[in-house]
Amino acid sequence: MKNDKGRRHFLKQSLHKTIGVGAGIQLLQSCENTVQNNNTLPFILSTWKNEKANQAAWDSLKNSNSILDAVEAGARIPEADPNDQSVGYGGRPDRDGNVTLDACIMDSKGNYGAVTALQHIMHPVSVARKVMEDTPHVMLTGDGALQFALDSGFSKTNLLTEKSKQEWKEWLVTSEYKPKINIELHDTIGILGIDANADLAGACTTSGLGYKMPGRIGDSPVVGAGLFVDNEIGAATATGMGELVLKSVGSFLIVELMRQGMTAQEACEEGVMRIVRKQDYKELQVGYIAISKTGDIGAYSIQPGFIYTLTIDGKHTISEVKSYL
Ligand code: ASP
Repeated sequence: MKNDKGRRHFLKQSLHKTIGVGAGIQLLQSCENTVQNNNTLPFILSTWKNEKANQAAWDSLKNSNSILDAVEAGARIPEADPNDQSVGYGGRPDRDGNVTLDACIMDSKGNYGAVTALQHIMHPVSVARKVMEDTPHVMLTGDGALQFALDSGFSKTNLLTEKSKQEWKEWLVTSEYKPKINIELHDTIGILGIDANADLAGACTTSGLGYKMPGRIGDSPVVGAGLFVDNEIGAATATGMGELVLKSVGSFLIVELMRQGMTAQEACEEGVMRIVRKQDYKELQVGYIAISKTGDIGAYSIQPGFIYTLTIDGKHTISEVKSYL
């Protein structure tokens, strides 16, 4: 692992710019502090800079809701945010101009629900929860998922904002497609929670890769890839190039590695190494976060630039994640 001081300094400088450190309660922790063991329960951990989502999850938990309610409440925040162009309303469309959403949710009993290629519905994570709780199935896709959402009382919304539409039109001029790290702006939210009893839940929601081929499904809604929760062991979630995560069944792998005795940090690192050893990763990003049943957390990514948000006692800490490169 390369980690020269100069580049770290540069990275830290740019992260300071990106996340506006100094404003309010945000903190930036350096990569040396990534491993945080035996955190006080409960806590919420999410990919990227997501303190509003974590706050919503925290508030839900403090209002005596379940850890499942909390992660759902958290995931709904970027879904409704038109400025988050990787999730829900305002998400970048596929190359035909359709915004298609993927999401899943998993509870502490091992139940799981997901929707893929869902259009016109702002909160796919809540539809995924309904799939989990109200149907004999675990995953609904496309028109069937939309029909189920409408039957369940969700209303239709135009998810393509003017900004995302304009950018898509500009993209159409060249139609050049080569997903690259942080050019596609992988801001999928994966959110994990552990309550005071050490019960775990997680959710993951995304509009997928911008200008993807119609019908492309990423890792985010797929159990064991974008998210996995095993209440005996821990939970993990992913962001970045979904194809790499799918091929290595990343989140399931990380939880299983924890079962075999690795810490959350070691398991995230090995999860990334499985990709690095086999795939052409050089221009692609994958980031993992994980929590163990005992309150340890781990995070690791292929490229620098990945951050996570940890919320304990209502306070948010944004940390830079150690990376392979
Ligand atoms: N993992 C998501 C996908 O491949 C993308 C992202 O993280 O932004 O669909």
